[in-house]
Amino acid sequence: MKRVICLCMLFLYLPIVVYGETSNVLYKMYSKDLRTDVTVLKDGITKAKQTIRINAISSFYNKGIDNLNIDMVDTTIDNLLLQKAEIEKQGDLAIDKPLSEIIALDADYKHVVSKLNDVLKIRDSYGNLDKIEAMEIDTSELSLFIREQEAAVKLAIEFVELGEITTVRHPLDNEYKLNSPYGSRVDPTGRRGVHFHSGVDLNANMNTKVLSIFNGVISDIGYNTAVGNYLRIYHGDGIESYYCHLNKVESKLGDEVKQYDVVALSGNTGYLTTGPHLHFNLYIEGDLVDPAILLEHKSNLEG
Ligand SMILES: [Zn+2]
Repeated sequence: MKRVICLCMLFLYLPIVVYGETSNVLYKMYSKDLRTDVTVLKDGITKAKQTIRINAISSFYNKGIDNLNIDMVDTTIDNLLLQKAEIEKQGDLAIDKPLSEIIALDADYKHVVSKLNDVLKIRDSYGNLDKIEAMEIDTSELSLFIREQEAAVKLAIEFVELGEITTVRHPLDNEYKLNSPYGSRVDPTGRRGVHFHSGVDLNANMNTKVLSIFNGVISDIGYNTAVGNYLRIYHGDGIESYYCHLNKVESKLGDEVKQYDVVALSGNTGYLTTGPHLHFNLYIEGDLVDPAILLEHKSNLEG
């Protein structure tokens, strides 16, 4: 009975697990420098802090022993050795002394030897002193390392899970068709001659569902005369997508969206359009990149 319940729970939980590739896959796809995983930096900081702590403890310990304990123990040992030697000397001369004196001397001797053994044991416990001293390292260098690493952590961002990247679909709920590629082209509206096309134009009938290309947050919604109704989605880790000429925006600023969530309906708004389509831009760290590399699964690395 218990097993049945467990299996049911497993099935209940399974659909919640969503497979997603992280931002580094996209960085690699566009031959951008891979980010340093922030967890590695944080591990480095933790280790450096631990070393400083251990060093502080060992130098405190050494200081205590050097200045006080060791000297005291050594002085005690010297005194006891002197006492022992003195008793031994008296013992040699005591052969013809009364028995009571010999017994008292023997008791003194045993007492001194027992005390000496105790103190020698204490002295032995400091035997690893050299080892601790050898561990001492320059903590100022480590402190500098920690400050540098902490600064790097601030700059680095934990890898975000974008969703499907290598097998990504496209940002429209229809067949993929590229009407106009990214890069230099003759402006189809005839307004600008040869110009740089900042994204791709994708085939879309009026009111085709526009889908978020990755997990993210709606970061900008607006209208301008050139691109009409537009929408921006920030996906984290310096990755952003931009959707233009929309007929209707179906999301609000700050909305969290999952990959392929419907965020708008395509249209023909703005003067930089000759018919219904979706203009789609992709940015990595503020740089425009060719969205077709992603959408047509042609990684730069594969040539
Ligand atoms: Zn365009």
